[in-house]
Amino acid sequence: MGIIEENERLEELDKKYIWHPFTQMKEWSEDHQIIIAEGRDCFLKDIYGRWYLDGVSSLWVNIHGHRKKEIDDAIKEQIDSIAHSTLLGLSNVPAIKLAEKLVQIVQKSFQLPPHPPLTKGGTKGDDINPPLPPFGKGGVGGFEKGGNKGGTNSTLVTCHSLLSKVFYSDDGSTSVEVALKMAFQYWKHKGAASKNTFVCLNNAYHGDTIGGVSVGGIDIFHKTFEPLLFKTYSAPSPYCYRCELGKSYPDCELACLDKLEDIFRTYSNEIAAMIIEPMMQAAGGMITSPPEYLKGVRELCTKYNILMIADEVATGFGRTGKMFACEHEGVEPDILCLSKGITGGYLPLAVTLVGDDIYNAFFGEFKDLKTFFHGHSYTGNPLACAAAIACLDLFEKEKVLENLEAKIEILGAWLKEVLSFKHVGDTRSIGLMAGIELVKNKETKEPYEWTEKMGWRVAYHAKDNGVIIRPLGNVIAIMPPLSIGEQNLKQLLRVIRDAIVLVTEES
Ligand code: PMP
Repeated sequence: MGIIEENERLEELDKKYIWHPFTQMKEWSEDHQIIIAEGRDCFLKDIYGRWYLDGVSSLWVNIHGHRKKEIDDAIKEQIDSIAHSTLLGLSNVPAIKLAEKLVQIVQKSFQLPPHPPLTKGGTKGDDINPPLPPFGKGGVGGFEKGGNKGGTNSTLVTCHSLLSKVFYSDDGSTSVEVALKMAFQYWKHKGAASKNTFVCLNNAYHGDTIGGVSVGGIDIFHKTFEPLLFKTYSAPSPYCYRCELGKSYPDCELACLDKLEDIFRTYSNEIAAMIIEPMMQAAGGMITSPPEYLKGVRELCTKYNILMIADEVATGFGRTGKMFACEHEGVEPDILCLSKGITGGYLPLAVTLVGDDIYNAFFGEFKDLKTFFHGHSYTGNPLACAAAIACLDLFEKEKVLENLEAKIEILGAWLKEVLSFKHVGDTRSIGLMAGIELVKNKETKEPYEWTEKMGWRVAYHAKDNGVIIRPLGNVIAIMPPLSIGEQNLKQLLRVIRDAIVLVTEES
């Protein structure tokens, strides 16, 4: 069979056998599709030999580029020892080494001076972080008897100890499931049985499993499943461009935090944890939160004895210009979810990190039934862990974070330029994550109908010009591998800019 026939056969077989994620298969089956055969640096090559810039880091996972020698070698070396054994009842060498490394990196990243109380916004500096006794026998009983509806409960402390324990799973969604279940069970062990629910944000995205969807806030993805979901409380998204409260920053004095506090104040006896994508709600439309918002959330969680889960599945590992997004506001969560970039985009792996307070609540005799009954077949997979160790080593070896500065500047200058375009309503970015929100009418902020597929039309034009991007509705998302060179970044941005101009001017 010749190369052309073989490629055509692959296209046919794809359409015959694969059901693609987040994809209307009717459209897929009617169009010509790209099939990737190879990758190198920040480029992908299709089966016909055409090269494309990978503008979405292969769905936000790739960090150091494709075919990175150090990661390739680490996987090859590991495969000569063992590809997989279980973490249920056994351990393995790469999983142990990676856990140590992760804890060191996380603790270094979060070793920040305590931040001063908010100067603006919801918690207004009074009554914040009241001096509370450490965890112990005393506090919990009081909570159970009295409840605390309508006020804080000063006999309980939100656990807040240095992140030090690593629970492995396989992808972003499972890292979130683990976090939710851990938070839920933690309160059972502490005797606070009524803490059964969660607070999440509108526009949130935490994965596609039922737990992740329950704490999600994107109607187009999540509404269908509503009857299956557990109860949560939703707080306003810190989406300044389309403020749910009709206010504008900074005059609003972070009124969205006041709304969050209302929920906490009223229901803290029911709330196990609040889950948040720190600094940027990514899948919800690259929504950056205003300064001091994240810090305010941390303070409120502490004040109302609610665990703070930071979902850094998208923002972790340098995407925002710092190792973790929480660092931007000197915030340490009680539970941290990481995945995507952890292996540099090579293999599926995730971790949920907690501190000793949570870990110790599960620590007991076999008969006490305090065990965390959760685990997946491929948890702590040695190949994935070996890839992750190599990926993390590269951060230091190649000074990845230090080298981002110039690229962040290039992106920032470009965003300023496109913001002046007639149909660009807003641009948002942090680090090398960016979103460009296209609007039908800039004055009124009227959005394009989603059926107009403006984001997709821009992506199709970009693809025809050698750039792969994936929009989020009317928002053009840009998230290249951190290793992208300055010239390639400029080329990527040039193609996207031309595509935006072309599509919005023809609309
Ligand atoms: N949390 C966040 C913040 C995410 O962006 C994503 C994926 N985009 C997930 C969780 C789910 O990760 P996965 O697709 O690996 O399950």
